[in-house]
Amino acid sequence: MPTSINPATGETIEEFAEHSDKEVEHALANADAAFADWRRSPFSRRADLLRRTADLLEARKDELARIATLEMGKRLKEAVAEVEKCATGCRYYADHGERLLADDHRDGPAKQNYVAYLPMGPILAVMPWNFPFWQALRFAAPAIMAGNVSILKHASNVSLCALKIEEILLEADAPQGVFQTLLVSSKRVEGILRDPRIRAATLTGSEGAGSAVAAVAGSELKPTVLELGGSDPFIVMPSADLDKAAEVGVVARMQNNGQSCIAAKRFIVHEDVYEDYLGRYREKVEAIKLGDPMDADTGMGPLALPSSVDDLGDQIGRSVKAGAKLVTGGGSPEGPGYFFQPSIIADVPEAAPAYREELFGPCAIFFKVRNADEAITLANDSEFGLGGSVWTNEPAEQQRFVRELDQGATNFNRMTASDPRLPFGGVKRSGYGRELSGEGMHAFMNVKTVTID
Ligand code: NDP
Repeated sequence: MPTSINPATGETIEEFAEHSDKEVEHALANADAAFADWRRSPFSRRADLLRRTADLLEARKDELARIATLEMGKRLKEAVAEVEKCATGCRYYADHGERLLADDHRDGPAKQNYVAYLPMGPILAVMPWNFPFWQALRFAAPAIMAGNVSILKHASNVSLCALKIEEILLEADAPQGVFQTLLVSSKRVEGILRDPRIRAATLTGSEGAGSAVAAVAGSELKPTVLELGGSDPFIVMPSADLDKAAEVGVVARMQNNGQSCIAAKRFIVHEDVYEDYLGRYREKVEAIKLGDPMDADTGMGPLALPSSVDDLGDQIGRSVKAGAKLVTGGGSPEGPGYFFQPSIIADVPEAAPAYREELFGPCAIFFKVRNADEAITLANDSEFGLGGSVWTNEPAEQQRFVRELDQGATNFNRMTASDPRLPFGGVKRSGYGRELSGEGMHAFMNVKTVTID
C-alpha cells in the first residue's frame, strides 16, 4: 500500500488505497482517447497549458514544497527551488517546443524531403522520490508539448506529490487523460506496460527497476529511456580554485540530503593539493547542522527511507573493514527520524564497497592520484557513467577529460546539474537515452521521413 511517512519523525502521514484494476483500465482508456485529440492540438494550445502550469507551480510553490519536505525530507529551501525549476522547465518547452518540433527539411531524392516529428501516444513514466516534482515534470513538460499523453507511476512514498502534480495540470486545464497519476505498486507496472495502448516507457530509479522495466518493454518492442544510478567523480587538479572547489564540492555531494543520482560521489584529488583540499572540505562537512528540514537554518535533513540509513551505514562499515579510513561521520545520531551524519571516507581500497557501489546518501569518498592519467583511469573504473565535475583551469587538460571520461556530462569548475536547455542522461549502467532539451523531446517521437514529388 503506498504510504507516506515523515522521515524527520518516522510518523505516518497517510496511507493510500491503490488504484484498482478497473481504475487502471479507465486511466488507460482515458489516455488513449485523450491522445486522439491532443495529437491534433495546435502548438499554441500545448504551450498555453504549460505556461498556466508554470504560473500555478509558482503561485503554489510554498504549499507544494512543504508536501515534498514532509514526504521525503529534503530541506524546505531546496523543495521551493525544485518547484521553481519545474516552472522554468515548463516555460522552456512552451517557448521552444514548436521550434524543436518543426519539420526538418533535408536534401534527398524527391522534390521535397523532410523529417516530421510526431507524437507516439500514451507513455508510462516510472519515477523516484528524490526530486518528486522535478523528475515527473521534466518528463511530462516535453511530452505535453510533443502531443504525447502521460501516465505517472510515482514512488510509493511520495503519493501526495504525485497527486498534486495531476491536480495542478488539471487546474491548468489539461484535457482529461493528458496527464494521469496512478497509485500502484511496482508489481503492477508490468501489466500496464504490456497494455497495447502504452507505447513507450521512461524510468528514473535504480538499476534493478530499470532493467526490470526495460526487459518487459523489450519483449513488447517498446522504446524506453532509462535514467539510473551514478557514482559521479569530482576531480580536483592543481590549477583549481580550491576554495570554490571545496565549497561547491560539499554542495554537490550533500544537497538533497545526499540523495541525488548526479551527486559528486567520488572525490579524485591530485596529490599536490590533496591534504589542503581534504582539510577545507572536512571543515565544511563538519559544520553542517542536521535537523528539521522545515527549519531555515538546518543544513541537512533526514534520508527519505529507513532502508537508506541501513544501506549507507552498512556500505561505510564494510568499506572501513576493508581498509578505508573514516575521516568524519559514519553513523546516525540518537533520536527519531532517518538521519545520517554527513560523512567522509578516504584511502578506499579496490575491494571496499565504496570503490564500486553507489552511496546514495551523504558520504563523500576521497581518492588521491598522481596525475591526470590516474584520475581518468580511476574515474572510468566504474560501472556507472552519468556525469562528472572536473576542476582545472588548463585548457589542454580540459580537452583530455572531455574526450576520455566515459560519462553523459562533463562539467568544468562547476557542479553537475540538469538544465532544461541541455540534454541529460548517462552511459554504461547509468542508463541510456536522454531527457530534456530537444533530445529529450525527440526520445518519444516518431521521426517520420517524408518525401514528396
Ligand atoms: P527505485 O528503483 O526503487 O524506485 C524508482 C521507481 O521505480 C519507483 O517508482 C518504484 O516504485 C519503481 N520500481 C521499483 N522497482 C520496480 C520494478 N521492479 N518494476 C517497476 N517499477 C519499479 O529507486 P530508488 O527509490 O531506490 O532511487 C534511488 C536510485 O535511483 C539510485 O540508484 C539513484 O541514483 C537513481 N536515480 C537516478 C536518477 C537519474 O536521473 N539518473 C535520479 C534519481 C535517482 P515503488 O516506489 O513503488 O517501489
